[in-house]
Amino acid sequence: MRIYKVGGAVRDRLLGKPVTDIDWVVVGATTEEMLAKGFRPVGADFPVFLHPKSGEEYALARTERKSGRGYGGFTFHASPEVTLEEDLIRRDLTINAMAEDDQQNLTDPYHGQRDLEARLLRHVSPAFAEDPLRVLRVARFAARYTALGFTVAPETLELMRQLSESGELEALTPERSWKEISRALMEDQPQVFIEVLRACGALKVLMPEVDALFGVPQPPAHHPEIDTGAHTLSVLQQAALHKQPLTVRWACLLHDLGKGLTPEEEWPRHIAHEFKGLKLIKAVNERFKAPRDCQELAMLVGEYHTHGHRALELKPSTLLELLQSFDVYRRPQRFEEFIAACEMDARGREGLEQRSYPQADYLRGAATAARSIAVQPLLEKGFKGPELGEAIKRERLKALKAYKDNA
Ligand code: ATP
Ligand code: MG
Repeated sequence: MRIYKVGGAVRDRLLGKPVTDIDWVVVGATTEEMLAKGFRPVGADFPVFLHPKSGEEYALARTERKSGRGYGGFTFHASPEVTLEEDLIRRDLTINAMAEDDQQNLTDPYHGQRDLEARLLRHVSPAFAEDPLRVLRVARFAARYTALGFTVAPETLELMRQLSESGELEALTPERSWKEISRALMEDQPQVFIEVLRACGALKVLMPEVDALFGVPQPPAHHPEIDTGAHTLSVLQQAALHKQPLTVRWACLLHDLGKGLTPEEEWPRHIAHEFKGLKLIKAVNERFKAPRDCQELAMLVGEYHTHGHRALELKPSTLLELLQSFDVYRRPQRFEEFIAACEMDARGREGLEQRSYPQADYLRGAATAARSIAVQPLLEKGFKGPELGEAIKRERLKALKAYKDNA
């Protein structure tokens, strides 16, 4: 049995990047031999094992063939006869299809090293088209390595375009798609992920609601960049620049979906886009089964982001409603994430990236004022049930009035 390092670990070492997790491939072994060496099997479908000590993944060299639609439509064949070259050819990109033995001897039959030097993301073989997830993976790698100068090879982009038109993308499971989407959003340049998906027509299939924002104008006075799609990409870029968590980045991507529904005769204004967008945000959320915290924040940011921008002009009663909608008393962190998303939205405008956003501190102060109301004194006064609720609300409103007057 021969064991090689493969995939990301080889690629990133050659790029001089830190290697976090190592994938291994095992040639010339059977499942029984692996088990006898103490490897633990994982996954029902794949011949993949965990190392008894390091816990790293060891996969038996395998070939695969597409036998039907979607990921279920794959048959795998692993046996001691499968060669390293046969295993590598089924991989997505040439730069991911290199292997290295324990002497750091490189096996590179598909010229991954050449493409690393040329800064090209290129598919290994026509078999690329057999798994539509690779469209998302390439877009994710483009986002990750754009800073190093990588681009998608024209012939690979063409293949991605054909895949997007074929209807195969629709067969992806929400779980597989979300894994790629969420990882891509956490890259330093997540907007490149969306740009590449758009360039190959995949965005129109995966998130038509986001795709529809390109070509939709906004008022130049508020949005010098004018285009709503361009704005959305800038907001996402700002979110990454400011190291925001996934929840905020997801909310940033979806916050303006309602603008895609505005009738052309109303352009460049977008009356009530916050409300109109909610059903679209919900649809995208559910399509990818996004985690609950991502879903919630996207809906709240969609509905209230313009409230955030107008924070200093809001009446105390509107401010109170806003805080109640966020349940800021029990969920202070979620309100912080809302504020962050609003700030990224404001910064994601051409030429206004550095402008200060006093709304952020103002909203924080308002939350603190409303949260400072103690319940105990009201209980002592004899309030209970719904009356207690009303009394708390009155006190909070009073606190917010004082806050606004002193601000
Ligand atoms: P990362 O740094 O994101 O982990 P990686 O290249 O190691 O990058 P993994 O998802 O860990 O990516 O996969 C390991 C390797 O397995 C890849 O380098 C690639 O060769 C192969 N691979 C993974 N998923 C696919 C896929 N859907 N189609 C083809 N090859 C794949
Ligand atoms: Mg990996």
